[in-house]
Amino acid sequence: MTEEPCQCSDCKRFYKEHDRLIREFPTFKQQQELNWASIQSFRTLSSKVADELQKQLSERHSNENLNSTDKHITDIEITEAIEELENVNAYLHSIEALMERIFDSKLSQSIEFKFKEIAQELAPDPFNVDRIILNRLFHQTPDLPDKNSFN
Ligand SMILES: [Zn+2]
Repeated sequence: MTEEPCQCSDCKRFYKEHDRLIREFPTFKQQQELNWASIQSFRTLSSKVADELQKQLSERHSNENLNSTDKHITDIEITEAIEELENVNAYLHSIEALMERIFDSKLSQSIEFKFKEIAQELAPDPFNVDRIILNRLFHQTPDLPDKNSFN
């Protein structure tokens, strides 16, 4: 007997995103590029924010600018955030090093075809015409019992 996957809204959002990434990036190469880009963009953004916070913090201490538009953020909040972001960036840096190793792998066209095939099985397109028709038929069945009784 298989265990029911959690159906809370966070998990549902995760399943949806997970499937979308398989459907939209169905090859080994696309997954490599996608993951590389996502780690890089995460690190770029986090570093930039950490730099800005650092700048903001030192400016505050140099001219005690009380008219600052960001004065609703406290010094402690900024210091903690910088620390947090530095930790995250260190982790991302380690992941990047591992990703470089993953980037060394290459697969042949026929194996890439297998990837596409399996991707379609794992994450079929919810807007696929056949599937929409099937769903519509399903929902039109007049004496359809309660959905829960199907489980
Ligand atoms: Zn959950």
